[in-house]
Amino acid sequence: MLRLINGRLGLYSVMAKDSIIASHGVVSKLGLSCLLIALFLFSSVSYGGFVPKDSRVPGGVAVIALPQKGDAPPHVFFQKKRVFTARLSGQWYAWVGLPLSLKTGDYSAYWRTKEGDKPLSFSVKNKEYQKQYLTVKNKHVNLSAEQLTRVRRETPEIRGAMDTFKPVIYELPEQVVQPTKGRISSSFGLRRVFNGQSRNPHSGMDIAAATGTPVLSALNGKIAAIGDYYFNGKTVIVDHGQGLTTLYCHLSKTEALKVGDKVDAGTKLGEVGATGRVTGPHLHWTVTLNGARVDPALFLSVE
Ligand SMILES: [Zn+2]
Repeated sequence: MLRLINGRLGLYSVMAKDSIIASHGVVSKLGLSCLLIALFLFSSVSYGGFVPKDSRVPGGVAVIALPQKGDAPPHVFFQKKRVFTARLSGQWYAWVGLPLSLKTGDYSAYWRTKEGDKPLSFSVKNKEYQKQYLTVKNKHVNLSAEQLTRVRRETPEIRGAMDTFKPVIYELPEQVVQPTKGRISSSFGLRRVFNGQSRNPHSGMDIAAATGTPVLSALNGKIAAIGDYYFNGKTVIVDHGQGLTTLYCHLSKTEALKVGDKVDAGTKLGEVGATGRVTGPHLHWTVTLNGARVDPALFLSVE
């Protein structure tokens, strides 16, 4: 079978060439080069499994090819955190999540080898995210002592489920499942200022949909947390292994799932709602890589 790596990376593997020879017996050299040229021209079609869009900006993902051979997953670190790696058609890649707080400039991730750590250098460019100024009644901005206690209890539970590295490898699909049908906002990274006070930038993508619209897991994984939280409302967090997690919140209801349950890409997690601190029904979807919230649009075929 012919397997091409996602054309955006402009690469195809030696394995593809081998498999052509294996499946066709004797192929003339000319015929083979024509075939490879044709494959290269059509390489915008992905046959090798999913790769996020390479976007080296704060809130983006740096997809870096690794020279490591063999089956053992490479050990790659960025800012002391282990990084997700995936092998497609024989080539290993690191998916380095770039935090929204990252300043523009030159960075290195580190690839651990027997000879020591080798830098994988890349540059992070600027991205201007939108700013939104809102004036709301102060009771909606300032939490009561009771609410604050609840938030302080819930935050470590949510962060712990999202910012984790489990050396588990799940099969990557050809495409990530869009978690709910609806209008996708491009609101990731939006900087909101309430009554002159800056809040944390928007850490996910909002998908507007009617209450009751099914919410599906984007990828294969395991339930890492399920609960009803002050800000997020009814929430499910799925761990896809190696520091890749997704969070789905403001749900009207969650399915009868518990922490540790296995889910597939497309498994129903719950339904769209307006629970937690929101103004209307929508799905808030967060994607995390190595503890960094990254733009979910890079995982879908939209931006
Ligand atoms: Zn949101």
